[in-house]
Amino acid sequence: MSSPMRRSPWLMHYNAASCNGCDIEVLAALMPRFDLERFGIVNTGNPKHADILLVTGGVNAAASQVLKNLYHELPEPKVVLAAGTCATSCGIFRGAPNMVGSVDRVIPVDVYIPGCAVRPEALIDGVVQALAVLEDKRARMERSMTGAGQVALHDATLADAADILALQKIVYRTMAELYNDPTLSPLRQTLPELQADFGRYHFIKAVMDGKIIGAIRGRRDPGLDTGFIGRLTTHPYYQGRGIGRTLLAAMEEKLKPVERYELFTGQKNVDALRFYARHGYTVARYETVSERRQRVYLEKKVTA
Ligand code: SF4
Repeated sequence: MSSPMRRSPWLMHYNAASCNGCDIEVLAALMPRFDLERFGIVNTGNPKHADILLVTGGVNAAASQVLKNLYHELPEPKVVLAAGTCATSCGIFRGAPNMVGSVDRVIPVDVYIPGCAVRPEALIDGVVQALAVLEDKRARMERSMTGAGQVALHDATLADAADILALQKIVYRTMAELYNDPTLSPLRQTLPELQADFGRYHFIKAVMDGKIIGAIRGRRDPGLDTGFIGRLTTHPYYQGRGIGRTLLAAMEEKLKPVERYELFTGQKNVDALRFYARHGYTVARYETVSERRQRVYLEKKVTA
């Protein structure tokens, strides 16, 4: 039986730094003459509803992090189309001081569509290719849904900072909704700040199909017998598959030898409190952060 996604893939168009030539062609492709919608395509402005991210233009510095954030907000499986010469190779903007480069310099690209400007017929051809890729990814995901066996853990490096930041913002957005407070520090953190954190923390990343889907940080200060652990994040789509547990265990191992581990979470984050309790953490103390928020510090003593 065909999947519902195959029948109604939703597409989000993002103009990274296009001259607008390709964008006009994207609109033309969606209009009745070329009628991209005959394939069931629905144009959406919400990345959380989209299966296909169609990017026009090369990527400039201002658009780079936005594009990463959008990419991470699309649920899995997803397909990225780079449409037009600029998106595929940076085109006439190559070498400009504000340009990062082609789309695949920033996020993984599945289908490349050439042309300056990209022609509606080529766009239709690319979308048809994208539907096949989407179906293939969906099938592979279903096969890998049996657990966290497909996930590899690695030490993260500075080059992973932007991906980890994008993941952090997706995960903590849910927390912000829980507290009705969009000012949580993980949401306000900038890329330079997170890059600076690499000087103080070990970072471990969980990777699936080349993408970072989970991360954790930890540190052990000289002279202290405590390993401090923080910002355990798993992409919402992959939660409940044991990735958080493996990340936490890997970080505890990394910080040894210590006498205790310490971390904190919010008092309303019941799922996290249960998760840490299951893994041996008990409440050490509370700290009031604001009228709306209280931190619960948890500790786990290391037994010989
Ligand atoms: S490929 Fe051509 S039309 Fe498209 S954004 Fe680049 S310069 Fe403009």
